[in-house]
Amino acid sequence: MKGINKLYKLGSATSRMIYPWVCCVCGSHNKGQSAVCDLCISHLPWCFNESVCVVCGLPIAANLSVTKVCGECQKVPPNYDGLHASFWYQSPIDKLISGYKYLNQWENAHTLIELSIEKFTEISKTGLVVPMPSHPARVRERGFNAVFELIKALNKKVKFDCDLNSVARTKNTETQTGKVKIQRRKNVKGAFTVVKPIQNDHVIVFDEVVTTSATVNELSRCLKKSGVKYVSVWAIARTK
Ligand SMILES: [Zn+2]
Ligand SMILES: [Zn+2]
Repeated sequence: MKGINKLYKLGSATSRMIYPWVCCVCGSHNKGQSAVCDLCISHLPWCFNESVCVVCGLPIAANLSVTKVCGECQKVPPNYDGLHASFWYQSPIDKLISGYKYLNQWENAHTLIELSIEKFTEISKTGLVVPMPSHPARVRERGFNAVFELIKALNKKVKFDCDLNSVARTKNTETQTGKVKIQRRKNVKGAFTVVKPIQNDHVIVFDEVVTTSATVNELSRCLKKSGVKYVSVWAIARTK
């Protein structure tokens, strides 16, 4: 992260000299000192603007459930106990995340953290934060571990317990895109292992994006099998 921080600070300082406080979404001059202007912040695809299931975090009709648990979670409860995200994986959040992950746009990581920190602070107090592990081959390919770096950057701003090495991905799974539910479950089955004993009863799995919940569900199964009692998932963004 040192490298990323240095690059970001350098890039940010330089860009601020040339384009002082320009909103990274609409490009207008920003009176505040945030990477996103106030108008764009209010139009971001925030999850908390909608009524969601308290377990899987997907939209739920506000008037349909007293328990706030969707029909799917009532029928087949997932292995995690709650899935929370700041944003729906929609524009401009999708572009900010893919720019960070695939185009080395480090400043996007800082923008995403800045936007999500309030929601994350609430949940991070209650347990041990672990990353959604990536397979070593994927990390080598990309050159850095996107989730590790986000957790490390967040932990510099908010103090929380985290362990980056207690869980590992032992199976380099194919992408879940284009697979139906049963294939997604099969694809990630046995993909994770708990490398060292976890003392905390509550583990918070951190991921930058949750596209299908099959992967976090399998990791949660693995954590619970190892003795963890309560698993929550926290993502910057998730697909609807
Ligand atoms: Zn703007
Ligand atoms: Zn649900």
